[in-house]
Amino acid sequence: PSSREIINIQAGQAGNQVGEVFWEMLLAEHGLDQSGFYQGSDPHSIQLQRAGVYFEEVNSSGPPKYVPRSVQVDLEAGVCNRTRSGPLGALFRPDTFLTAEVGAGNNWAKGFYTEGAELVESILDVVRKQSESCDALQGFQVLQSLGGGTGAGLGSLLLSKLREEFPDKMVSTYSIFPSPKVSETVVEPYNALLSIHQLVENSDLTFCIDNEALYDICVRTLKLPSPDFSSLNQVIARVMCGVSTSLRFPGQLNGDLRKLGMNLVPFPRLHFLIPSYAPMTARADSSFEKNSVVELTKALFDRKNFLAACDPRFGRYLTAATIFRGPISSREAEYAVRDLQVKNSQNFVEWIPDNVSVSLVSVPPVGQAQAATALSNSTAIQEVFKRTLDTFSVMYRRRAFLHWYSGEGMDEMEFTEAESNVRDLVAEYQQYQEATLDDEEGAYEEEATVEHEEEQ
Ligand code: GDP
Repeated sequence: PSSREIINIQAGQAGNQVGEVFWEMLLAEHGLDQSGFYQGSDPHSIQLQRAGVYFEEVNSSGPPKYVPRSVQVDLEAGVCNRTRSGPLGALFRPDTFLTAEVGAGNNWAKGFYTEGAELVESILDVVRKQSESCDALQGFQVLQSLGGGTGAGLGSLLLSKLREEFPDKMVSTYSIFPSPKVSETVVEPYNALLSIHQLVENSDLTFCIDNEALYDICVRTLKLPSPDFSSLNQVIARVMCGVSTSLRFPGQLNGDLRKLGMNLVPFPRLHFLIPSYAPMTARADSSFEKNSVVELTKALFDRKNFLAACDPRFGRYLTAATIFRGPISSREAEYAVRDLQVKNSQNFVEWIPDNVSVSLVSVPPVGQAQAATALSNSTAIQEVFKRTLDTFSVMYRRRAFLHWYSGEGMDEMEFTEAESNVRDLVAEYQQYQEATLDDEEGAYEEEATVEHEEEQ
């Protein structure tokens, strides 16, 4: 059967480390071993029907091998070399690793303008080749961190090139926002803000993964006293599998990235989605968990289970998509979601009726009886942008560390533009947060302010 294919591009240390865990989980979900061979007994199984979305089926003389449709990119070869010599070493096509030796030194400008720019054409050659072997490419997913140099800088450059070369394909990103709880590099807010500036223009769907929130989930919910990257990445991969469930298995709703975008993005710039997951439990005891659909639903809209550090109670949902996995009836799921929406109606904009979609896939994640993932387009995401903007502005006002960027030929104007673009973005979220059903266009700002005061 023809699949609507996705090409995965993982860039930089975080991108590749997260990518490795994601592929491992994906293999398990589709019944494939670490070399990409099917280990189940039924080749027509539900596991394989849509495996072609992420895997290319390669038939040589023996049984078919499922090869990730993926490109691994880094300006430093270390992480990719580890993948190549690790358990997944035989999985990826050898010519899909593109690395350099120089590194990006946590400098966005090196990734975007200098070192990264030298590698970008050879990356695009590989992407082009992969796209040519697709039946009906639906789009791309880019895995990147925003705080470093490669995933952030070169990742951004790739996004703009993809946009140029594949204007009719969906471009999605899993973007990891930096947190001082996890990393100490002082220029991360610079790199992150410059990246967000690019994401606003060149991504159709950005799944916001926030190391700040991940860290809290690991410590508070998973009870890991000092979580490392691999614990954070387990959570990310689980969520990535959740988000992509309805793309990878037969089900009724949201069968592709474009439909997901259609349902979730009411305004083109506001495409920053907050993933959440339930039940968020430590691995070992998860198979004993049996949550009711109502509990799962509640957990999905609880800030504790949000992958971005923001509080939905302080914002309003423009839209959301829920994806339930396991033996759950659609009537039950629909009812639980509608009920939650009615009980928390003040947190959902009333001017987009039926703004929470429900989809169901009978295949649960490996090791869990049932689970659910949500993608929320909530105006509360502005908190994450404000956090980055504030630290950015404090340093930028004094022009601190700028010479590292201008040394790579970058113009100071780009910092100013990035700052004002993200400020505008925050203002747009705020404006839709305050908008009510009856406002006239353009008049709502004043009215909303008045209303807000009355409430208090
Ligand atoms: P790059 O190789 O130049 O793209 O740089 P990194 O990916 O190392 O970017 C640094 C940022 O990513 C910092 O905010 C780190 O905390 C974060 N980071 C690095 N590795 C990982 C990882 O494996 N998982 C997660 N969640 N974050 C990471």
